[in-house]
Amino acid sequence: MSIQAIAENAVAGGRVTADEALRLYLDAPTSMLAEAADAIRARKHPEGIVTYIIDRNVNYTNVCVARCNFCAFYRTVGSSDTYVLAFEEIFRKIDETIAVGGVQLLLQGGHNPDLPLEWYEDLFRAVKRRYPGFKLHALSPPEVIHISRMSRLAVERVIERLMTAGMDSIPGGGAEILVDRVRKQLNCYSKATADEWIDVMRHAHRAGLRTTATMMYGSVDAEADRIEHLLRLRDLQDETGGFTAFITWSYQPENTELGGYERTGIEYLRTLALARIVLDNFDNLQASWVTQGGKVGQLSLLCGANDMGSVMIEENVVRAAGASYCMDEVEIVRNIENLGFVPKRRNMHYERLGDPLFREQDIPRRRALDTAKSDADPLMPDELSRYAARSRSARVMRGQP
Ligand code: SF4
Repeated sequence: MSIQAIAENAVAGGRVTADEALRLYLDAPTSMLAEAADAIRARKHPEGIVTYIIDRNVNYTNVCVARCNFCAFYRTVGSSDTYVLAFEEIFRKIDETIAVGGVQLLLQGGHNPDLPLEWYEDLFRAVKRRYPGFKLHALSPPEVIHISRMSRLAVERVIERLMTAGMDSIPGGGAEILVDRVRKQLNCYSKATADEWIDVMRHAHRAGLRTTATMMYGSVDAEADRIEHLLRLRDLQDETGGFTAFITWSYQPENTELGGYERTGIEYLRTLALARIVLDNFDNLQASWVTQGGKVGQLSLLCGANDMGSVMIEENVVRAAGASYCMDEVEIVRNIENLGFVPKRRNMHYERLGDPLFREQDIPRRRALDTAKSDADPLMPDELSRYAARSRSARVMRGQP
């Protein structure tokens, strides 16, 4: 089949094979990939609506024992600049999020050996008691695996307990590239193998949770690895139908042990378009403007994306690796409408909540993203003393034997 015929088959609703996907990715002109992806997006979303969510990306701790070599965010146990957010601090962030119309927290953090399962349960319960309708899109699969290993409970049981405490859905972070050879090179094989990441999502979907899926490309992976990754997601989606959306971004190299360079905007747009073509059973693809910037984010809407992701109030992880783009709701809506699409707010299940909020309410403009921790925050939140620490440094801090 010619490249043109492969693209036409995909636009008509046909499924591409791994070989066909690789040929498209390597050889199709960018305009052909973009047109095919845009046609598929228009078939799935004929009303021309582009959605976004108002939420906040909160990283509850930067302590991490995983030490992925592509990560600039983590700090080792006992380092002087580590933090764990106090429950009160998280409540304050939720108050601020609700004040600008936010409906959920995206809550992720490092693999901190001194936070037991009960800490997460208590936090989730406390959030739900205080903010009953507020949603928790929390804990990526490697974090769930970390908690499962520490608590010596099966992943299914951990998910069940976290759901009972208030977890509403699982973000697709930590997938990087779902190929174990690549994961070993990124030093993220031990935090979760490709099979383990998929298994957490399978368990979550079976338990009734909807989740997202992600891909971080452009570190040590080859094009064929990215396609293997997409096919693993497509297979699980065939099996469970539990993924709400797919988000891809390029590796951000600044301040990382791995180093290297950042992939170009065109490579991002080609990767996004290819994902729209391969992931024929995903309804929603997000534009990652947080890593690519607003202008490439806007172009994403012509390359298969139908969602602008989050009106982000706070970001810590990609900022540590050198990217810190900021767009508030006004800016996101301007980018959507400038392309001729209709902007709508949504929730985590991609249900539409309404028109842009700033047109209904007076919401202060945000020109910069917040960070996780301010100098005024306590080094040792009061409630931490209730939980048994495992590391020596944390035991000393908490006054535990
Ligand atoms: S990517 Fe996540 S798991 Fe890996 S070192 Fe960074 S915080 Fe830890």
